[in-house]
Amino acid sequence: MSDIRESFNNEIGTDFRGEIMYGEMLSGHTSIAVGGPADMYVLPYDAVSLKTCLMFANDRGLAVLVLGGGTNVIVDDNGYRGMVISLKHFNMIKTTDDPDERVDLFVETGVPLQRLINYCVERGYAGIEGLTGIPGTVGGAIIGNSGSFGQEIRDVVESIVVINLSGMIKRLERDEFSFGYRRSSVEQGLIILSANMRFKKSEPEVLSGKASECISRKKNTQPLSERSAGCVYMNPEGRAAGMLIEEAGCKGMRAGDIEVSRVHANYFINRGNGTASDFLKLMKMVEARVFEHSGVSLEPEVRVIAGKHE
Ligand SMILES: Cc1cc2nc3c(=O)[nH]c(=O)nc-3n(C[C@H](O)[C@H](O)[C@H](O)COP(=O)(O)OP(=O)(O)OC[C@H]3O[C@@H](n4cnc5c(N)ncnc54)[C@H](O)[C@@H]3O)c2cc1C
Repeated sequence: MSDIRESFNNEIGTDFRGEIMYGEMLSGHTSIAVGGPADMYVLPYDAVSLKTCLMFANDRGLAVLVLGGGTNVIVDDNGYRGMVISLKHFNMIKTTDDPDERVDLFVETGVPLQRLINYCVERGYAGIEGLTGIPGTVGGAIIGNSGSFGQEIRDVVESIVVINLSGMIKRLERDEFSFGYRRSSVEQGLIILSANMRFKKSEPEVLSGKASECISRKKNTQPLSERSAGCVYMNPEGRAAGMLIEEAGCKGMRAGDIEVSRVHANYFINRGNGTASDFLKLMKMVEARVFEHSGVSLEPEVRVIAGKHE
C-alpha cells in the first residue's frame, strides 16, 4: 500500500484535486456497515482529477470500484485491493430547459437521491416522488434502476454521460442503454458522471402529499432505522421475495450478528458486529430454506463486491 501512496504522490501530485485515503475502512461507507479496507479511497473534486485517477489505476492494472451511498452492496471483509472512487463532490443539479409543461435537469451522479427528490417535490417537478425514502446516490439509482410505489428512475432519465476506465468521456442517449427490473444495461467499467432528466410539471402540495404517504408506508413496513443493505433479493415473477422468506420460516434467522429482519424478511440487518461473511452465510441459509419450502431459487438484488485479492 505504501508503494501506491508513494507512486501516486510522485507521479500525480498536483494534477489531482480532491481527497485521498489509504486503507480506509469501507464499513464506514456502506449502510450495513460491513467491508474491510480499500487500498485507495479517492474523492476527486472534478472530472480532470477523476480522469487522472483512472489513468493511474489503468497504468498499474489496479481494479476500480465506484461506490455511491453503499446502500445496496456487500463489500468483502478483506476489503478492496484497488481504487475505490466516491463521486460525492459531483453534486450539481441545474435546470437546462424550462418550458410550460415540463422541466429538464442536468444532475451529477454524486447527488444524494433524496436531495434530488426534495428538490423536485419543492418545485412541483413530478416523476420520482414515489422514490422517497430510498437512500443512496443518483448514480447508484441509475445503475440499479431504483424504484418504489410504481415509479422507477428510468421514467425520468433521458441521457447519461459516462467515463470509461481509460478516461474517455461520452454521452449515451436513451436508446443506447436500457433498464430492467433493478438493473440497467450500463456496461461494467463505465462510470456515470451525470444524467439529463425530464420531469412533468405538477403542484408541490400534490407531490409532497405523495412523498409523505410513501415514507409513512415505508416506515410501517420496512426496517428503515436499522443498518441494512436494502432488499437482499429481487422479487421473482409474480411473487414477493420477502413473503417467500417469511413463509419459509426465516424471520429472525441469524448468522453471527446479521439477522433476517422481523419487520420485513427481505432485509438482513446488522445487529452489531456483523460481517460480510456472516451476511453471505445467512444468504446461503435463507436460499436453501426458501428452495426447500417453495422450490424458488432467489436471485440477489444486493451486489456482492469481491475483494479482488491476488
Ligand atoms: C433502508 C433501505 C431501503 C431501500 N429501499 C429501496 C427501494 O424502495 N427501492 C429500491 O430500488 N432500492 C432500495 N434500496 C436499495 C438502494 O438504496 C438503491 O439501490 C440505491 O439506489 C443504491 O444507490 P447507492 O448510491 O447506495 O449505490 P451503491 O450501493 O453505492 O452501488 C450500487 C452499484 O452501483 C454502482 N454505482 C454507484 N454509483 C455509480 C456511478 N456513478 N457509476 C457507475 N456505477 C455506479 C456501484 O459500483 C454498485 O455496483 C434501499 C436500501 C436501503 C438501505
